[in-house]
Amino acid sequence: MAKLIDGKHISAEIKEELKQKVAELKAEGITGALAVIQVGDDPASSVYVRNKKKACEFIGIDSLSYELSEETTQEELLELIEKLNQDEKVNGILVQLPVPKHIDENTIIKAISPSKDVDGFHPQSVGALTIGQKGFVSCTPAGIIQLLKRSDVEIEGKHCVIIGRSNIVGKPMALLMLRENATVTITHSRTKNLKEICKAADILIVAIGKKEFVDASYLKEGAVVIDVGIHRDENNKLSGDVKFDEVEPLCSAITPVPGGVGPMTIAMLMNNCVEAMTK
Ligand code: NAP
Repeated sequence: MAKLIDGKHISAEIKEELKQKVAELKAEGITGALAVIQVGDDPASSVYVRNKKKACEFIGIDSLSYELSEETTQEELLELIEKLNQDEKVNGILVQLPVPKHIDENTIIKAISPSKDVDGFHPQSVGALTIGQKGFVSCTPAGIIQLLKRSDVEIEGKHCVIIGRSNIVGKPMALLMLRENATVTITHSRTKNLKEICKAADILIVAIGKKEFVDASYLKEGAVVIDVGIHRDENNKLSGDVKFDEVEPLCSAITPVPGGVGPMTIAMLMNNCVEAMTK
């Protein structure tokens, strides 16, 4: 039976550590505040925003909430971001994505000061990661590194195959695994022989966004499987990009959905917020 990589437990552990660190920083007179901007009232975004605010409260930093109407113009949003860039009390700025269609996501990401870019999406943050310099790292892939390390999965020298090359998961994931000295293969929708490539993986990270796409035929026996996917059915039941029941008996360790990668994203966002306090 595979070891279950427990994201719920590990994220709780990280948040406890951060709470302690924030208390120590507060004792030195250093406080933290995250500005969270939501444009429109997409219900899924509202849940994410609420959870982020709750996490701030737990670790002891302020969250400043900006709930803007769907009709907010790009100029108005840019103005608010600039105001927050200049505000010394604010050390992290987050714009909940997606933004409405009349607003250009890339322009918004670029407007956030790299020193407050706690999502790690700014081109400067991505560039720093690429050349191995210090900078904020995208939260979901950073969380996966923590899951692996804190579950004693050896990364160095292992062959890691990643399905997916998105800017928020696949690409930064590949760079982080490279930083940890894994041998990395990135696959995508034009990849030929996907199954054979996956079968060569010691660590298989699946971020394809297709419900239960990966079954046992994609796996080498004893591989470690990280399932990034989140899919919610009509009964609110969550599942991932991996057919868990079929894959689990074959692998040495696996993340469940829910309770695997999901809880790590907010924990790592909080980690970035604490890092921002000492920048
Ligand atoms: P995305 O932007 O849709 O990217 C999906 C990637 O999969 C793309 O690179 C695409 O290739 C590739 N792909 C699609 N079909 C394929 C196929 N048949 N064979 C091989 N590759 C294929 O998705 P994402 O934002 O990275 O998210 C992936 C999943 O993770 C989603 O289920 C999402 O909900 C979930 N997610 C979870 C968290 C979390 O906190 N747990 C965070 C972010 C995302 P092309 O580039 O060629 O199109």
